[in-house]
Amino acid sequence: MPRPEHTISRSRLSRAALQTLYGLKDAGYQALLVGGGVRDLLVGLNPKDFDIATDARPEEVQETFRRCRLIGRRFRLAHVRFGGEIIEVATFRAAPRSPDEGDADDAEVDPAVLADDDESDADEAAHMLDDSGRILRDNVYGSMEQDAFRRDFTINALYYDIRDFAVVDYVGGMQDLSERRVRLIGDPVTRYREDPVRMLRAVRFASKLDFTIDESAAEPIPALTGLLTDVPPARLFDEVLKLFLSEKAESNFDGLMHFGLFDVLFPEVARAMHEDQSGRVEALIRLALRSTAQRISDDKPVTPAFVFAAMLWAPAQAAAAALREQGVPPSPALAQGASEVIGQQCRTVAIPRRFSGMQGDIWHLQVRFEFRRGKRPFRLLENKRFRAAYDFLALRAQAGEVDQELVDWWTQFQDVSHEERKQMSEAAP
Ligand code: ATP
Ligand code: MG
Repeated sequence: MPRPEHTISRSRLSRAALQTLYGLKDAGYQALLVGGGVRDLLVGLNPKDFDIATDARPEEVQETFRRCRLIGRRFRLAHVRFGGEIIEVATFRAAPRSPDEGDADDAEVDPAVLADDDESDADEAAHMLDDSGRILRDNVYGSMEQDAFRRDFTINALYYDIRDFAVVDYVGGMQDLSERRVRLIGDPVTRYREDPVRMLRAVRFASKLDFTIDESAAEPIPALTGLLTDVPPARLFDEVLKLFLSEKAESNFDGLMHFGLFDVLFPEVARAMHEDQSGRVEALIRLALRSTAQRISDDKPVTPAFVFAAMLWAPAQAAAAALREQGVPPSPALAQGASEVIGQQCRTVAIPRRFSGMQGDIWHLQVRFEFRRGKRPFRLLENKRFRAAYDFLALRAQAGEVDQELVDWWTQFQDVSHEERKQMSEAAP
């Protein structure tokens, strides 16, 4: 699609992206903007970052730029730096083949990747899918066209060529963009089996762009949700962050619920939600997602700890209640319940310690809000997690779980002078 027929203008690209594209072109290589950058520009959004595809090998990219680092073992990428911005440059790659497709005749495997791999043989390319069809390796160079077909969705496989400013579309992505739909390239079941995270990406792109998921891509999901349990929990954590630390957090939540994906990612939360007649469990989660989305749109800082605290609150409470029934005192019961629930959750979605620690703190402080007399409220105010815990208390009140009076008291307590605080504390229940 030549320049006059589409809406991408060079002025919308960052300086760093342009310098990288021209640097490659001037060195005699193909250089194209690809993926989310092209997609977002075409729908009028500001791209988060710019990814570039080229026929230059990583070493050749490195020779072209002064400030360039090669990263990744499984597939090597070049990071080119201009000023504070990093541009990711990837060599065209081909899709992996399943074992019965025979030798990887025209495909060329990156020798550097082979060299530091445990499987030392050269027919590596034929062994890149596991038994359930999941991609294990993804490091075979290919043509630009092959590079397009290995991508996930048609709208993510568009290229913007710096040579002539044309948009190159091998997969019908332009039509899908104009009809506002998320469609997988190739056979949907195969593509989901190769990488189950694509089910989550389908949900995320549909809400991000306000597109619909094409029936061909939507229909197979409910039967395949279980494949997510094979995905490394650390990768699922990254994906969950993209889903929930987002302005579209609530519509992502709806999408995950609709397809049954949520139940696989957060089995204990789903169970608590289904068992809960009052609707408070779901209400609290929605309030947390909405408040996170609002903070993001206000450019305020957000932390995964807060979202996970809301998400896992009901299971943690249930675990604590069960322990109390066995005679464990309230405080240790909550601590132990919390760690059980977090431990279980980390088997599917691995929450890094720095966040689960803060999440535990937010939970723990909830109990301390009840004690308003004497020195205790003063000490609580000094706690470094006070603010996050107070925000969480306010959500609980909104969800109907605690009295609004308690929140209002703490709101006022923060605002007034030391003398007035003393009076408030003396008068408190
Ligand atoms: P955003 O950055 O806005 O989340 P994006 O499309 O740039 O969206 P990235 O995860 O940055 O998404 O990936 C860049 C590109 O790499 C995608 O547009 C797609 O072409 C390709 N890609 C990413 N993940 C996959 C995947 N799991 N399977 C196939 N292709 C993928
Ligand atoms: Mg991107």
